[in-house]
Amino acid sequence: ATAAAPILEIRGVHKVFGALKALDGVDMQVRSGEFHGLIGPNGSGKSTLMKAIAGEHLPTSGTVTFKGGDITRATPSERSRAGMSIKFQITSVLPGLTVYDNVLLATQAREGIGSLLRSSSRRRLHGKVWAALEQFRMLHRADDVASSLSHGEQQWLEIAMAMATGPDLLLLDEPTAGMSIEERRITGELLEPIRGRCAVVIVEHDLDFIREICDVLTVLDQGAVLNSGTIETIQNCEKVRQVYVRR
Ligand code: ADP
Ligand code: MG
Repeated sequence: ATAAAPILEIRGVHKVFGALKALDGVDMQVRSGEFHGLIGPNGSGKSTLMKAIAGEHLPTSGTVTFKGGDITRATPSERSRAGMSIKFQITSVLPGLTVYDNVLLATQAREGIGSLLRSSSRRRLHGKVWAALEQFRMLHRADDVASSLSHGEQQWLEIAMAMATGPDLLLLDEPTAGMSIEERRITGELLEPIRGRCAVVIVEHDLDFIREICDVLTVLDQGAVLNSGTIETIQNCEKVRQVYVRR
């Protein structure tokens, strides 16, 4: 059998900020349904690469292909409509709204605000919101305002919001930042049912977490890919070890 074409393909991506080369020719492939970890020291370009995938930053050069289409210059909302969803380090939860309403609003990223105004699509959206809340164990919190959630629950709400659009690619930049060990474990459990249904690119500092949930890893160092492969390949890679020792 031939390997499936990648859902996401990054070719020769450079990103320059003034004199700084934040990304220096990155190639990366993500396959449908795979959990792909993006690791590397602070400042190695992980967030910049995520933003180039999401359309928050346009690359200085290089291409980003999603589902076979060139999206290098597409807007974030065009990417969202194509099936890409993002949870960033910076929160997107509206603290004064209920958990339910936050997820409902998130579905508009793909559906367009008009769908909230038609009662037939409102019922369908209601089902989607409910399913997302159930999957991320937030049903009992549906009517609570988001500001009453714990830090961990806010992170899970954001992942639920990102997943409520039914994406084929989910981007997570440090989803477990600030979480306790127990909250990290739960996060891993919550993500597990997504495997095989939606590809996930995860930036993480917690290498134990990465090892637990990722199928494939890409290691960045100084804006370039140091190595990419299975957990085993990366663990046995001398170049990668040296980067982590150097820290
Ligand atoms: P990581 O997420 O791996 O810690 P980043 O992608 O945030 O790294 O940053 C890579 C490099 O690019 C760093 O040197 C950082 O200071 C720089 N950088 C990131 N964003 C900007 C920006 N908007 N303007 C200028 N420099 C930036
Ligand atoms: Mg970062």
